[in-house]
Amino acid sequence: MRLLLVEDEGELADLVRTKLTGEGFAVDIAGSAEEAQAAMDSTGYDAVILDLRLPDGDGLEVLREVRDRRNQTPVIVVTARDSVHDRVRGLNAGADDYLVKPFALEELVARIAAVLRRPGAALGMRLEVANLAFDTTTREVVVSGQPLVVPRRELAALELLMRRAGRVVTKDALENAVYSNGEETESNAIESHLSRLRKRLREAGAGVAILGVRGVGYMFRAAVEA
Ligand code: CA
Repeated sequence: MRLLLVEDEGELADLVRTKLTGEGFAVDIAGSAEEAQAAMDSTGYDAVILDLRLPDGDGLEVLREVRDRRNQTPVIVVTARDSVHDRVRGLNAGADDYLVKPFALEELVARIAAVLRRPGAALGMRLEVANLAFDTTTREVVVSGQPLVVPRRELAALELLMRRAGRVVTKDALENAVYSNGEETESNAIESHLSRLRKRLREAGAGVAILGVRGVGYMFRAAVEA
């Protein structure tokens, strides 16, 4: 799952990104209102964490523009300004939740999980294909009831493939799910992750297949009985 963190304080942004990456998210950082707008125009995020006081403007303006375009991505507003006035302004502008600085990182993680679990949002579902199950809340993968350990990047790829099971997933979409903006990626990185994932699933006895769709991407589905 991919998050956008809009925060101009570099140290705080790095700290938050490290925590969220450890929780299994891909995290992009935008350091200004302009960068935030550009990132949201080019990428579909599962949730946005939005600082209100940005060097080139008010984060609430970013939020208003996003909502004006009927973009319903969950947004958690973060600000040092702890006043009822700002809280009301944030919620009126379409924020899903509100966090006041300084906040505990665990609290932020809990709030993100909460907005992602809302109806229509990304979390709170159990994905199942054949004997393979993926709990999107706990991030646990199970094959025929047996837990399977899957490394972080393969897990991100598996989640997207399972969410779109039976449909073609482009290589670009997989790269977006697996890597943050600006992360170094080898041109064949996705193929390598998928080849390790295929082997892992096969060895665990998962009755699923990751098919290559030439020149387009991949499709995930239950394996056809021989
Ligand atoms: Ca700020």
